[in-house]
Amino acid sequence: MQKNRTMRKFLIFNLLFIVISLNATAQDKQDSKEIEDTSWKKEYRGIPTIENELVHTKMVASFDYTKSQLNGEVWLNLRPHIKATNTLSLDAKGMDIHQVAIMMNKKMSSLKYVYDGLVIKIQLDKSYTPSDNYTVYIKYTAKPNEYKAKGSAAINDAKGLYFINPLGKDSTKPIQIWTQGETEGTSVWLPIIDKPNQKSTQEFQLTVPSKYVSLSNGLLVKQIDNKNGTRVDIWKMDLPHAPYLFFFAVGDYAIVKDNYKGKEISYYIEKEYEKQARQIYGNTPAMIAYYEDLLGIDFPWAKYAQINGREYVSGAMENTTATMHNDMVLQDARELKDGNAWESTIAHELFHHWFGDLVTAESWSNITVNESFADYSQTLWLEHSKGKDAGAYENFTGLRYYLSSPSDAEKDLVRYFYKEREDVFDLVSYQKGGRVLNMLRHLVGDKAFFGALHTYLVENKFGTGTAVKLKEAFEKETGKDLNWFFNQWYFGSGHPYVRIEQKYIDTAKKVLIIVQQNQLQDKIFTLPIGIDVYVAGQRNHYEVWNKKRIDSFYFDAATLPDNVNVDADKALLWFKDESKTMSQYAFQYFHARNFEDRLEAINEAAENVSDPKALAVLKAALQDSFYVIRARAIQSYNPS
Ligand SMILES: [Zn+2]
Repeated sequence: MQKNRTMRKFLIFNLLFIVISLNATAQDKQDSKEIEDTSWKKEYRGIPTIENELVHTKMVASFDYTKSQLNGEVWLNLRPHIKATNTLSLDAKGMDIHQVAIMMNKKMSSLKYVYDGLVIKIQLDKSYTPSDNYTVYIKYTAKPNEYKAKGSAAINDAKGLYFINPLGKDSTKPIQIWTQGETEGTSVWLPIIDKPNQKSTQEFQLTVPSKYVSLSNGLLVKQIDNKNGTRVDIWKMDLPHAPYLFFFAVGDYAIVKDNYKGKEISYYIEKEYEKQARQIYGNTPAMIAYYEDLLGIDFPWAKYAQINGREYVSGAMENTTATMHNDMVLQDARELKDGNAWESTIAHELFHHWFGDLVTAESWSNITVNESFADYSQTLWLEHSKGKDAGAYENFTGLRYYLSSPSDAEKDLVRYFYKEREDVFDLVSYQKGGRVLNMLRHLVGDKAFFGALHTYLVENKFGTGTAVKLKEAFEKETGKDLNWFFNQWYFGSGHPYVRIEQKYIDTAKKVLIIVQQNQLQDKIFTLPIGIDVYVAGQRNHYEVWNKKRIDSFYFDAATLPDNVNVDADKALLWFKDESKTMSQYAFQYFHARNFEDRLEAINEAAENVSDPKALAVLKAALQDSFYVIRARAIQSYNPS
């Protein structure tokens, strides 16, 4: 899922210039917190218990546009997980349940059940063993507008099924129906075990107005004209996936088709924007090719479609083979002249088709194994398609975004304690997780990094993933113990606040670098740091480990260094406060190896415009090869 990003572009650009708040802010916030219910802090959120496993889901549904309701029948094929059982619990939120039965030789036999408005507890006709599959039938009416559910930062509410302008009273809006499953919204419109550690194949038979098209998971295998203004569309998904990825949409869309290795790649787009479809979505086949190449695993699914929904409650959602986008994806020809503002979101949702859809976070506590990868895929795609600076800029904005929220330093990346399951869709699971992956890539190198991702996907495909499984894949690939890294970053919280000072010792012909960790937490981070020391125009690279609150490092320097560049590859997830001269920053700008090196130099120059060295940097930056640097230079000439 991609969060709602109405303000994101604006916000991120401004993050280039603002000073990130220090520990004090978090501390102040802590002190001023009002008394609130914190009982959730003691409620461990583990793996959802599996008593019965979903195998196959067949739904037959029609829509009541007048009441905004779905009339459905579902046949759920299941089997007990490890021991025999004669009961089945299904999530079914706010529905009317008309009938519950067991299928026996194509005949139905009614079953007893208790329904409390959220869960149906069904008494099966007998005890079934794990080797017995059985099929339960339920006839129901889903009433999403009468069900009240809480949303989150990532999604605005959670009623699962949305009727947009169903009676057509608003002439400015199209008539659409669409669903949003994550986290557990699917069970508002389909009785199901609505947990991420369940997987099912599916068949949806949707009766829709003939004038509209439908989209769902898998392939459209058949269409039947009812000759009454409606049509039945039959969608089949032969590979298993989690219930939160179940999806359908119905509306008036043009369908623009591409192809990738014989698989249909399609863009369902409101007709007004049909001409722009390829400009908006057209890089999708190239993205698939790139991600296949990186991961060494072909796109696993039968097709890939993308669609947009009006009044969509999130930014975008990776429903398997049928990604849904906010209507901000719709850009006209003029807007597209400035570039495709939705490109990174398109990459994000596609990458979920490996990390999320193929291997699914086992519980919401482990959501980062979905979202950190999707977040980091944005950096990977931009690095590949637009160059190293564009990738570094995407990575940097993610880092700044996370650092701009000091209270998020209190949250573990793998979150076993949270108030609402929607709360885990935050800057920690996404942006911090993405930066942790960037550090891991830098630590082990590209070959081992992508090799470990391949191993993790192959070993867990059509199953579930966790940070522990990820650690095992990386240890297997690298042959190294990585407990320290995973304990520090995945099963811990926060990040280092580092003060860096340097001193030239003329008598010893050495430069002293002092790295001091100042975070408030009673915790010292283990940090592998790459340091470039430039002396007389010559670069020497050193690798050191910072493991203490204060570490001192000495490097040879025959003369005063032109510059010392700590974290030379800009890989670390930290807040850094550094004292360097304008002369060193000027040298850094002109000998930079990374986008962030140049940005740091310009930010310093912008504060020292009376210094000729600073002016030389700003003047040169107006001709920089990367537009973000040029924009920053222009802004520094006119700070208001
Ligand atoms: Zn996502």
